[in-house]
Amino acid sequence: MKLELVDAKKWITLFVEKLENNQTTLNELDTAIGDGDHGTNMKRGAEAVTAAFEKKDPETLADLYKATAFAMIQKVGGASGPLYGTAFLDMSKAVKTDNLELADLIQIGTDGLKRRGESDTGMKTMIDVWQPVSDALKADKFDQSVIDSALENVKGLVATKGRASYLEEKSKGHIDPGAQSSAYLFESLIEVLGE
Ligand code: ADP
Ligand code: MG
Ligand code: MG
Repeated sequence: MKLELVDAKKWITLFVEKLENNQTTLNELDTAIGDGDHGTNMKRGAEAVTAAFEKKDPETLADLYKATAFAMIQKVGGASGPLYGTAFLDMSKAVKTDNLELADLIQIGTDGLKRRGESDTGMKTMIDVWQPVSDALKADKFDQSVIDSALENVKGLVATKGRASYLEEKSKGHIDPGAQSSAYLFESLIEVLGE
């Protein structure tokens, strides 16, 4: 399964909408185990993505992911800006010559997060959503239940990366804010795939 430009644009546009509508939820999650700004950070990024698309409608998949990456890098700030930025930039580079299978595309984004964050699954970060989604796409078993169980799993983890890791055991029992924003990303993908 591959995502063509029109659907990829719908995907990112739906993500941006969810970020704008859920700023408070993301800030609340980040207040519990971080510094309370993840919703504000991502909303700034969302507005920058919309502005970039309005300025120049992306003509290729590479343009689309690159514009998304730049908006995230330049406007989100915090730890999550460069992380999302790297994931989308790596995805942009990967589709430059040929479109990829969605499973491979998401794995490339996930690998970008791991490299940039010097992190892996099990550390209670957004990677704990990206990796299971990538695995499920590879197995042709991607649906809402994958996201739900990824978030349930994240909740029970002790953070070992990012601000939440300062809380050690106390980080347990909370959903990681970046995992939740990534859940919005992949719930947007489900909506596009279901059309
Ligand atoms: P900050 O922590 O700088 O305020 P945000 O609140 O915007 O930045 O983003 C926090 C999120 O970034 C976390 O919830 C987590 O998902 C993610 N994150 C932080 N550090 C890492 C890392 N090293 N690897 C992967 N993800 C990380
Ligand atoms: Mg924060
Ligand atoms: Mg911060």
